[in-house]
Amino acid sequence: MSTAVAETTTTTETTTTAPAAGGLREGAFGNARALQCRECGTEVALGPQYACPECFGPLEVAYDFPAVTREEIEAGPRNIWRYKALLPVPSDIEESPNTEPGFTRLLEARNLGAALGLRKLWVKDDSTNPTNSFKDRVVACALSAARELDAKVFACPSTGNLANAVAAAGARAGIKTVVFIPSNLEQPKQVNSAVYTDRLVAVDGNYDDVNKLASEIAGEEEGWAFVNVNVRPFYAEGSKTLGYEIAEQLGWRLPDQVVIPVASGSQLTKVDKAFQELVALGLVEDKPYRIFGAQATGCSPVSVAYKAGTDAIRPVKPDTIAKSLAIGNPADGIYVLDICRRTGGAVEDISDEEVREGILLLARTEGIFTETAGGTTVGVLRKLVETGQLDTELETVVINTGMGLKTLDAVSDRVGAAATIAPSYDAFVAAGIV
Ligand SMILES: *Cc1c(COP(=O)(O)O)cnc(C)c1O
Ligand SMILES: [Zn+2]
Repeated sequence: MSTAVAETTTTTETTTTAPAAGGLREGAFGNARALQCRECGTEVALGPQYACPECFGPLEVAYDFPAVTREEIEAGPRNIWRYKALLPVPSDIEESPNTEPGFTRLLEARNLGAALGLRKLWVKDDSTNPTNSFKDRVVACALSAARELDAKVFACPSTGNLANAVAAAGARAGIKTVVFIPSNLEQPKQVNSAVYTDRLVAVDGNYDDVNKLASEIAGEEEGWAFVNVNVRPFYAEGSKTLGYEIAEQLGWRLPDQVVIPVASGSQLTKVDKAFQELVALGLVEDKPYRIFGAQATGCSPVSVAYKAGTDAIRPVKPDTIAKSLAIGNPADGIYVLDICRRTGGAVEDISDEEVREGILLLARTEGIFTETAGGTTVGVLRKLVETGQLDTELETVVINTGMGLKTLDAVSDRVGAAATIAPSYDAFVAAGIV
């Protein structure tokens, strides 16, 4: 009988007391209960696993949440750890050096809204995170898992931003980092990783090739935490904080419509999970909301499947300037389709030229310089309005996930000095600038 007790999960207050594999300390993963298969519901102990032992479906963190109040959250730090009770991290997480991302601005975007004919629009601006993309959120959670699992190497395959975030967080944590990128990656994204680590590895191949290599290394080497491979369930939970913050910053309520970029699809699925958790915990009122996914046409396997009305996502070879979204075989693509269909949203894609226009539109209406991923999201927002897929009367949030300084080439041909003049008033007047 006593063995059965050990298997059963107790109620909420303290957590994960069972000494799971590898001598985890008590509460290593906070209120997380287990890893649960998204397909068949099988639960396995919290640890460095990502595929279901029964059906190979993706594992996701499941929790026994205690009662959580708005006041408790509001009293927390101005970063993602204010939501630590809802994440797979220990309750003393703030004591470990990390990049402390999150609680970025939610800006009311009156000019962009007016330009597009939207009554109420906000930009959630994640370009101001420590390494200038939303990836700092997921990496902070992955770093915590790597620590608790006593990993010796902190690593990732990356389309660029993830490598920046892993290298920076690893430097702060004092753990050895190795980051893998496609060798054709934008120079600024390479430098933004290499400043933090001597172990930036450029691989001759596209992201999907780099990812395959990472899985191989993870299988061969001991003690490596690949943030988006073997600790992916913990990593992915970090994206929930985007959803929590949007709701809290709107005054503890859900928006009507959200437009989110899709690479692997993880972020989009976790914003939806965050909204559902907030409702289940009684932190926001239940209401309908629509989730929209944004892709660049040159890598749009999810959008293509959405438009074809199928669940079968056919992998593609990416060919787009939106390199941070260039995942040709998206792991969470089918869940993105399900969420966008179920909530009454859509998945849409735009050309590289429209991506550039999206970057300039956001810059010139709101003073926010986004990278190609944000250009994609803003461009798709515009297309959704123009094609009548988005309701212009409803409150809409668009997520800017990255920073334009990392993808300068995308717009450097399109903008520049209006004139080059001699240093004299007459020359200025003659140039006819104003
Ligand atoms: C990684 C990334 C995304 C998308 O992330 P997924 O969770 O893989 O869909 C979006 N924007 C930027 C800037 C990124 O770096
Ligand atoms: Zn399963």
